[in-house]
Amino acid sequence: MNRYEKSQQAFAQAYAVIPGGVDSPVRAFGSVGGTPPFIARGEGAYIYDIDGNRYIDFVQSWGPLIFGHCDSDIQDAVIDATKKGLSFGAPTIAETTLANEIVELFPHIDKLRFVSSGTEAVMTAIRLARGVSGRDNIIKFVGCYHGHSDSLLVQAGSGLATFGTPSSPGVPSDLTKHTLLARYNDIDSVKKCFEAGDIACVIIEPIAGNMGLVPASEEFLVALRELCTKHNALLIFDEVMSGFRASLRGACGISSVVPDIVTWGKVIGGGMPVGAFGASAKIMSSLSPEGPVYQAGTLSGNPVAMAAGLASLQKLKSNPNIYSELNQKAIKLMNGFKDAATSVGVDMVTDSRGSMFGFFFSKKVVKNFDDALQNDTVLFGKFHQAMLGRGVYLACSSFEAGFICTSMSDDDINSAIIAARESLIEITKG
Ligand SMILES: *Cc1c(COP(=O)(O)O)cnc(C)c1O
Repeated sequence: MNRYEKSQQAFAQAYAVIPGGVDSPVRAFGSVGGTPPFIARGEGAYIYDIDGNRYIDFVQSWGPLIFGHCDSDIQDAVIDATKKGLSFGAPTIAETTLANEIVELFPHIDKLRFVSSGTEAVMTAIRLARGVSGRDNIIKFVGCYHGHSDSLLVQAGSGLATFGTPSSPGVPSDLTKHTLLARYNDIDSVKKCFEAGDIACVIIEPIAGNMGLVPASEEFLVALRELCTKHNALLIFDEVMSGFRASLRGACGISSVVPDIVTWGKVIGGGMPVGAFGASAKIMSSLSPEGPVYQAGTLSGNPVAMAAGLASLQKLKSNPNIYSELNQKAIKLMNGFKDAATSVGVDMVTDSRGSMFGFFFSKKVVKNFDDALQNDTVLFGKFHQAMLGRGVYLACSSFEAGFICTSMSDDDINSAIIAARESLIEITKG
């Protein structure tokens, strides 16, 4: 019996009209093998594929769905909004309301602007930092992902602290030469980058979720802040993933460090396409139409997306215990995975922050991308397949974080742990 038959057909058909059969590359399962299940619907903690298989969903659309699928409050808000019109390209009160909900959580943020994706939010934050500082160079960290805009699709050239080279054809090296690459959790590598001068900003995922889950140490973030202040460079926290995920205030709620600009996405749209970036009134006043730095968007702040975001955020804010409850589940899941690995003699390291979790098949605690590269990706691929076969949907790469949603029960966590134990026994025997 082939439990993925319909998905295989659908994938072949998609392949004919969409490059790789997908609208975002990771979805093609390239790094784990097999066919991606085509999803028919979701409900709470579960997704159902078109073959009728049910999965406990630890991806949750890569982060946005902190309340799981089809949360009735968010759904009702969206349905209400759609009845009044999908988009006007004109101001609506919902934008101000959602902006206020976010701004009031962050003493250092006075204003923000909504866009339609995390990529757009970060791209504009970088433009703003360059515009405000009058400088061109930026520093990013190897292994951090900030969306697919040109300046940020950069890989290390001949070594760190050199000017980056494009990580994709189509990105001019004239552009990426302004992006310097440093090593995560390694302040000396940042100091070296600053020697190049003309640094507009440093951008970091303060809790990295795009090389697996790799949090920055407090000590590192403090030193980073000091360096930025010393060099008059802006510090950008890219909290597109960690925002409203790691805690209500994201990494800003966990670290004492105050960034100059923060970017959000994922959770703030509650499953609809929303991104945002915010900063002090002074910095934001450089943005068009108040200032000269240009940015625009036809569907930016559209009322349907705002309604979904508002419903999510209001729900999060009225449930202060959500993050510790989600974290308890994340810890339980990770301890269960680790025990299962240990019992079959496989090394695993795990971590969690609020509703985010991560694990590596690795001996060593992962502090940066070099460490992450040491993980056993072949074993991960087998584990992923085996878990999928047991109805557990994990991110299809060992360089991704996992997500807990409020609709996950203790039974769901237990089932996933049992599946992990069975999967590890299956793939390590013989
Ligand atoms: C997902 C993500 C982005 C890009 O957001 P999109 O909505 O996919 O464009 C940027 N930064 C971080 C940290 C992310 O996790």
